[in-house]
Order: sequence, then structure tokens, then C-alpha cells
Amino acid sequence: MADPKGFIKYARKEGGYRPVNERVDDYGEVEQTLNVADRTLQASRCMDCGIPFCHWACPVGSKIPEWQDAVYKGEWKLASEILHSTNSFPEFTGRICPNPCEKSCVLAVHEEAVTIRENECSVVERAFAEGYIEPRIPEQRTGKKVAVVGGGPAGLSVADLLNQAGHSVTVYEKDDAVGGLLRYGIPDFKLNKKVIDRRIAIFEEEGIIFKTSTSVGEDVKGEDLAKEYDAVVLTIGAMQPRDLPIEGRDLDGVHFAMDFLKQQNKVNRGEVFTNGERILATGKNVLVIGGGDTGSDCVGTSNRQKAKSVTQIEILPKPPEKRAPGNPWPYWPATLKTSTSHAEGCERKWSLNTKRFIGENGKLKQVELVEVEWNKGENGQWQMTEKPETTHTMDVELVTLSMGFVSPVHEGLVKEFNLELDARGNIKVDEIYQTSKANVFAAGDAASGASLVVTAIAKGREAAKNVHEYLSK
Ligand SMILES: Cc1cc2nc3c(=O)[nH]c(=O)nc-3n(C[C@H](O)[C@H](O)[C@H](O)COP(=O)(O)OP(=O)(O)OC[C@H]3O[C@@H](n4cnc5c(N)ncnc54)[C@H](O)[C@@H]3O)c2cc1C
Repeated sequence: MADPKGFIKYARKEGGYRPVNERVDDYGEVEQTLNVADRTLQASRCMDCGIPFCHWACPVGSKIPEWQDAVYKGEWKLASEILHSTNSFPEFTGRICPNPCEKSCVLAVHEEAVTIRENECSVVERAFAEGYIEPRIPEQRTGKKVAVVGGGPAGLSVADLLNQAGHSVTVYEKDDAVGGLLRYGIPDFKLNKKVIDRRIAIFEEEGIIFKTSTSVGEDVKGEDLAKEYDAVVLTIGAMQPRDLPIEGRDLDGVHFAMDFLKQQNKVNRGEVFTNGERILATGKNVLVIGGGDTGSDCVGTSNRQKAKSVTQIEILPKPPEKRAPGNPWPYWPATLKTSTSHAEGCERKWSLNTKRFIGENGKLKQVELVEVEWNKGENGQWQMTEKPETTHTMDVELVTLSMGFVSPVHEGLVKEFNLELDARGNIKVDEIYQTSKANVFAAGDAASGASLVVTAIAKGREAAKNVHEYLSK
């Protein structure tokens, strides 16, 4: 530990965000960063705890105290190497991870946590700027071929590790560019897509082949891949959105969040949509149904499209501002989260259920809502009841359904391979990430259910290690 008293001498200092009135007019990243001197002091706040709970809480097991120490000493190359030893993409997690590490930082027991996520982003950006991150072309090839289906963070992690192990890796991606939800779910104002392109360019030099606009199960048969490759790894995500099949669901103006977000990300990339196809919040009263991160991204996007008003509702009660007694440190805090998108303007409401969508000439005009309360029933389970005489309507012209994802899409590849599924409809895998079909593995949201980028990276890495062992037998 470079400065044993750093955490006493220096308060937490964040890079902060661009001013709201400026950032809502563009899709540039909202987060700013500190200068090198301040960043170094922030790294000095790490206490190098005997038991680093940050490391315990991080799905990729980032060696956080070690690289804070390197940052403090100005050893940026070493810091970058330590970061990359457990995570192929610190530039993604450094930007958009909800940082479970910081929630478990020992400083957070009574003080403010070390700025671990921001420090991570600074390390990797510095490493790119200094040219420390260069293509690592494998010296030997094993002669084994692996197909990775799905180019999200899980698939890219699998591809990186297996390519570095000397196997020949081809990534098949149904979209026109790889990145998965990093590219077409997460808005540009949280993650600039050049950050993905920069890494993919390195991967290409390292020998990974990317076949985009290729849907496996449609454009290419899964069975053909299973024959052609020594192993196939399915990292197809959990793309089946949770629907709200109530009256008026088919009205013009009710959309899945991903259709709305993906389109805006594609527009930012230069794609043009016809007026009939375009989903726009401009001048409309927008209702975002679902209080999570996807909903928050819809709020930010609606404000950038200059919605008339933006309201986000959630069926569950409002979470507490501080940890509840049953939710102690170092566990993930089930507390109220206010994102940069919320700060840009949005009315947030809780304990509201959506009863029906009301339209005129096929177009959404209103939504009917009812207040609900949650109480524990005799069996100890939470039960929702509607509050009498609280049914009301709200004028709304655009609804985005942001209520999470249920499972991977079964139509196509999953059905073609006739894969066994778990109780929640995810692809069932054993302890070595193998599916019910020999030679076919699965990882990331497709096998674990919708989660986080850092979890997808972690699962991709574990799967890759197992596939490597399988191929080395
Ligand atoms: C709007 C939104 C915002 C989010 N924000 C955050 C955030 O801020 N921080 C965070 O940590 N997590 C966030 N998440 C969650 C995170 O993005 C996911 O958990 C993560 O991307 C999952 O990675 P994955 O590789 O398993 O799957 P995905 O990222 O879903 O990638 C799967 C890929 O497989 C491709 N594919 C599917 N089927 C086929 C096929 N048959 N053939 C070829 N390709 C196929 C898809 O096109 C896609 O590119 C967010 C999710 C959403 C929806």
C-alpha cells in the first residue's frame, strides 16, 4: 500500500458529469474524468485491506488493491496488465459497471468508497493512449477451430481467451456489428461505440474472425457449425423481452424498450429509418414502464429526442435511500438508484400497475394505472393488492416496455439444437459450461439469465477455460 493514510487525507472525488443542459443535446458520453494528479490521490485511498471485499464482490475477481497501488506509484502499464489479467474489457466495465466492488469497499462501511470504476477507466484509457495495449498475436496455433455464436461481452471474452490459447476462433453475429447489448442496448451517452471498435480492431489483428450479419440457425445452420468446428460456444444473450399482454398492447405507440434503444443507437451509427419505422419520443408524453436500468436508458434517450414529458413507473415499492437492516454491507445495496438520465428530467413513480392502454384510431392516447401495495401473505411471500379507488388515467403517446428479459430467444438455434433448458428457460449447462448437446457450450446471459456486462465477461472467461481444457484432451 503506497500511502497508508491516503483514505484519511483525501476525500472521494469523482470526475462528475457534463452539465445537463449541454449533454441532453447530444449522445456523447456524459461522464468526465479527473486529471492524473487527482486520479493518483484517489488510488491512494485504497487501504489494501487484509480481506479485500471489493475483490470478493467483483464477478471477474479484479485484483483491485494491487492495481490501485500501481496507479498510485504511476506504474500505469503494470496497473493495466493487472486489470487485463482478469478482464479483457476494462474499458467497458470502467464505464458502465454498476460497480459492486465499490459497494463492498471497506471504506464504504463508514465513509465513501474508493472510486474503483473511474480509476479502472483511467487506467485502460491511459494504457491505450500510451500504446501499452497492442495486438498479442498467438505464436502457435493448435489446429482446433471454435465457433462463438453471439458477439456480446460474453462471446468476446470467450473469443479472446480461446484465441490467445492458440485456437482459431470465428465469431458469428446476427447484427451488422459486434458488441451485443454494449452496442445496441446501452446508449452512446453511457458508452461511446468507438470504444468497442477500438478493441475489435485489435482482436482482428490477433486473428479472430468476425462474421457479422449472420444469424446462426437462419443464415447458417447450427448443425453445420457443430460439424465444421471442434467446439461451438453459444453466447446469444437473453433477448426475449418480458411483455405486458394487456388490452391495447397492439396500439401504435407501445414498444419494447430494446426496439426504441436499438434504433437510436443505429441512427447514431448512420442508419436511416423511414418515418413509418422510426420510434420517436419527440414532442410526446413518454411513459417508461419498468424502474430498472433499461428504463433509465429509455428516459435518457427520450430526453435527447426532446420528449414533452417523461415518466417512469415501477410496480414495486420505492426502495429505501439507505441500506435496510436486512441488507448490510458488503452485500449489494437494494437502495434507490438515481442515474444520470434521471437527473436530466423525469418523474418517477412506484407501486403502480398498468391496467390497459387506451387508443384512438389505433394510436396510443392514454394508459390506465392503479396504485398497488405489497404485503407479506400467510406463506411469507410478498403479495400485491390493488388499492381501491386509485384507478386513474394518464395522457401518453409513447410507452416503452422496460420490464426485463425472460430468457434467450428459443426460436431458431436453441430449437434447432433441441437444447435442454433450465426452469427459467435459459440454456442449461453443466459445470464445464457444456449444453445437453456434445461439443456445444453456452455462457453469459444465454445460460445465466439477464445480468450485467461484468458477469457476462466473467462467465465467458470461465467457459473459455473449460472449452480450452476440453479441446486439449
Ligand atoms: C438497455 C440495456 C442497458 C444495460 N445497461 C447495462 C449497464 O449499464 N451495465 C451493465 O453491466 N449491464 C447492462 N446491461 C446488461 C448487459 O448489457 C448484459 O447483461 C450483457 O450485455 C450480456 O452479455 P452477453 O454477451 O451474454 O449477451 P448480449 O450482450 O445480449 O449479446 C448477445 C449477442 O448474440 C447475438 N445473437 C443472438 N442470437 C444469435 C444468433 N442466432 N446468431 C448470431 N448471433 C446471435 C446478438 O445479436 C448479440 O449481439 C444492460 C442491458 C440492457 C438491455
